[in-house]
Amino acid sequence: MKIEFYGAAACVTGSCHLIKIYDKNILLDCGMYQGIDAKERGNEVFNFNPKDIHYVVLSHAHIDHSGRIPYLYKKGFRGKVLCTEATLDLCAAMLADSAHILLYENEWQNKRRIRQGQKPIEPLYAPEDVQSAMRLFSPVSYNEWIELFEGFKFRFIDAGHLLGSAITEIMVNEHRKECKLVYSSDLGNKDIPLLNDPEFSESADYLIMESTYGDRLHEKGEKELDHLVNIIKETFKRGGNVIIPSFAVGRTQELLYTLNNYIENNLLPTVPVFVDSPLATESTRIFNKWHKYFDEEATKLINSGDDPLHFKSLFFTRSAEESMALNKLRKGAVIISASGMCEAGRIKHHLKHNLWRPECSIVFVGYQAEGTLGRTIVDGAKSVKIFGENIAVNAEIHSLSGLSGHADRDGLEKWINGMKVKPKKVILVHGDREAQKSFKELLDSQGYSVFVPNPGDIFIPGVDHIAESSTRDKIKFLLDSLEDVDAMPKDKLMELIRNAINS
Ligand SMILES: [Zn+2]
Ligand SMILES: [Zn+2]
Repeated sequence: MKIEFYGAAACVTGSCHLIKIYDKNILLDCGMYQGIDAKERGNEVFNFNPKDIHYVVLSHAHIDHSGRIPYLYKKGFRGKVLCTEATLDLCAAMLADSAHILLYENEWQNKRRIRQGQKPIEPLYAPEDVQSAMRLFSPVSYNEWIELFEGFKFRFIDAGHLLGSAITEIMVNEHRKECKLVYSSDLGNKDIPLLNDPEFSESADYLIMESTYGDRLHEKGEKELDHLVNIIKETFKRGGNVIIPSFAVGRTQELLYTLNNYIENNLLPTVPVFVDSPLATESTRIFNKWHKYFDEEATKLINSGDDPLHFKSLFFTRSAEESMALNKLRKGAVIISASGMCEAGRIKHHLKHNLWRPECSIVFVGYQAEGTLGRTIVDGAKSVKIFGENIAVNAEIHSLSGLSGHADRDGLEKWINGMKVKPKKVILVHGDREAQKSFKELLDSQGYSVFVPNPGDIFIPGVDHIAESSTRDKIKFLLDSLEDVDAMPKDKLMELIRNAINS
């Protein structure tokens, strides 16, 4: 077996790791690069032939893990995508949404290209590719061992990061030698509303682990959420609205659950809350379909007859007209809208109508990436451009960081130390270089052996040889040209690798 690292290697987005064993190729996730990574690494490039991929084992529905599956299909992939039932449903909604965003961006890009005398280009994929790709999806329950072929079986356990998100445990049997590989994917934050805490893996020989917040601690979630109640009360007293830019899937449902709790427990009066995002509305429906994945607290509420994602004064807007009607509301409304970083979608309209009013509040509840409108506002800009117009930033700006979907440094450390047997090698992915460096130092100090791959690096369990960037092409060529690497004695293989590097 060998593992090649492509996406989310030395960055956060584009998760994609390729396992090669016998004549089979399995991808762990096939995500989209976002933001700066998309520019630097390019979503058009696969470093393997999509036709050669037999399976995609998908950890969860977030676009940075699932977003390139329709493109993989477009380029010839016809294997199976395995994921939990909730991930399947969420992917249907999120990938369709992603295709529409790609189409929209492509139209805009082509208008510019044509003006510059260049040929128009195709979007990465279209809604039809999503529909076709979705037919390859096959649902799997948590804790169910699935044998994909002789010598390779896996099961999902709850990662507590998003509805249906999974840690993948893989048992490989290579020439009668067993080895266990664990892929943490994104690990949930403790006490995320609705979701269970991440499950622990008992053991792993090799662990591929995320490190998003490997250098940071979150503020306490509870304290942060109490702020939300006060912000709403104070803003309404001033005669304004509360605008919450929120990721449509996950964060919005966590907010609804929290608001439901406040209203049911009389901590907050019955205030009108509007969810203004078609994707958020659709994902709330999917969350309601999969109550069985909810945590104990939410299950108790359901059993007591309360719907944890609904209260009397909650409204979902549907049409564009309904959305526009919200612009006329001057006070006393909580409006939750996407996108979470204010880059696209209906939130921009709500900011245009409320950001300049000192009586209003804007509450950020998610990470704001550099270069986004959300980040500019959080960083204290006095005025921002929205739809070509300068809008003054007079509203109160709040940032509630405790609602992160990712475990922080402590959470990551607790999770890995929850393993009864230390992995022989920890491979850190899904983190920027600073976070990875800091988390590697922590793990090193605790006696772990840690590897941080660059894109294209290869890991061979047993040989434990890792290709550094300057030599990895030579090694990749060698490994691809060998008949049966897995059966070869490891010292023989090492010798070949050494010769290849020195050639
Ligand atoms: Zn995620
Ligand atoms: Zn992720």
